[in-house]
This record gives sequence, structure tokens and C-alpha cells, in this order.
Amino acid sequence: MRLSILGAGTILPQPNRSPACHLLEIAGRKLVFDLGPGAVARLAAAGLDHREIDTVFISHLHPDHVLDLVTLLQATNATPSWERRAPLQLIGCRGLAAFTEALLAIFRDARPETYALEIHELELGANEVAGLNIHAALTGHTSNSLALRLEAEGRVFAYSGDAADLPALVEIAQDADLFLCEASFPDGQGTPDHLTATQAASIAARAGVRHLVLTHLYPQADTQNMRAEAEAQFKGRLTIAQDGTEVRA
Ligand SMILES: [Zn+2]
Ligand SMILES: [Zn+2]
Repeated sequence: MRLSILGAGTILPQPNRSPACHLLEIAGRKLVFDLGPGAVARLAAAGLDHREIDTVFISHLHPDHVLDLVTLLQATNATPSWERRAPLQLIGCRGLAAFTEALLAIFRDARPETYALEIHELELGANEVAGLNIHAALTGHTSNSLALRLEAEGRVFAYSGDAADLPALVEIAQDADLFLCEASFPDGQGTPDHLTATQAASIAARAGVRHLVLTHLYPQADTQNMRAEAEAQFKGRLTIAQDGTEVRA
């Protein structure tokens, strides 16, 4: 599998880290995890044109993870000499359907016209959706924010979304080949609804993760040595993401 980080940041403007967007290529599929502002353009620049996007996961409904959903839907309707026929799978947290409906009540021209928008709100635990096996768990970041685990072709990918330091994350990331985990802040600057690099690395170590990729970094990340903080806890392969980072597992 190949993971491209197209948004390694948060809602705050940063030159090297845009709001959340990650592209996972696995089992012949191209799966998008979160659509922060600007994500559709960055996906296109990375080779995934909006016409080719068919499966999008939304971890939770904060703007840095979901604002470009309307861009995707509007672009789909506004592309000259092309009509989307294939369904678009939108998979994510509780409240995703009502959120999308409210968005389309405001942006009426983005309402699907020629294709089916299939929205799946995940159950906690195991799900089979859009031909994929996905486990979901609450992360404690918001009341409905999810962490996701995907197993395909004998490989395991896990994504924390935004998360508090909960044992459920160890379960979601257990023995993962690749664990994409938020690490918002360096040590000493953490908040109860996000992880520090030390917390993310400790979760990865307890879960027996092979490769840990830290994403969702606030600007403070560059003021302190988060790699050293993480390496003190986690002895596996470690990547600290910026926009454009690519890893294979
Ligand atoms: Zn976020
Ligand atoms: Zn959030």
C-alpha cells in the first residue's frame, strides 16, 4: 500500500502543512481520508482528478477535515462535457448524512444530479462498506469523531483522525503495518482533545505498529524536536509528515 499525505496540518495556515487530506492506495483502490480546505486541488496535483475520486472517509465534522466536500460536489456538477455516473461513496462518522444535507441546502448547485451520493455512517466496531472491511472507534476528540482501521490484502492501515489519548486507539492500531496518527502538539503544549508526539508514539508502541506516520501538526511542531520525543517511546519506523510526504508499507 502507498500513503500520500496531502494535508499534514490543521486549520491554521502553514507553508508546509495544509488542512487534513490523505490518499491511501490499497488493493487497487484509491481511498481519500478527510477533505480539508484545498484538498480537491491537492489531490488533483497528486494525480487523482476529482472525476476519479470514488471513496471518501470523513473522520469527524471539523472544518479542517470536511470543508472541501462541497468543493468536490460542486466541481463534479460544474465540469464541462462530463457527467458523473458512478456513485460517490462518502463514509464516516455519525452525523455525516445530516451535515451533508445541510451543506447542500446552502450550496444547492452542488446537489448530486447525475449520480448517487451514497453516505454511510459507520457503526462502532466492524463494518463492511463499499467493498471494504473497516473497524471504527470513538476517539474522544468530539462526541462523534472516529478512528479507522482498514484491512485489505493482508495489510493493515489505521488512522487516528483527531484523538484524545484513549486505549481504544491501541486497539484500532494493533499490529498495523501503517499507523497514521495525529500529533498536534509537542510535549508540554498538549490539550485534552488532541495527542502530543509522545502520546501518539506511546500508543503506537503499545499497539506493536510497524510504521508510525505523524500528521495533523500545529505550527508549534516546528519549534521543538518532536522526532526525539516520539523516538523516546517508539522504536519502529517513524515519519513526521509534511505535505507531499509519501510512504509505502
Ligand atoms: Zn483537525
Ligand atoms: Zn478536529
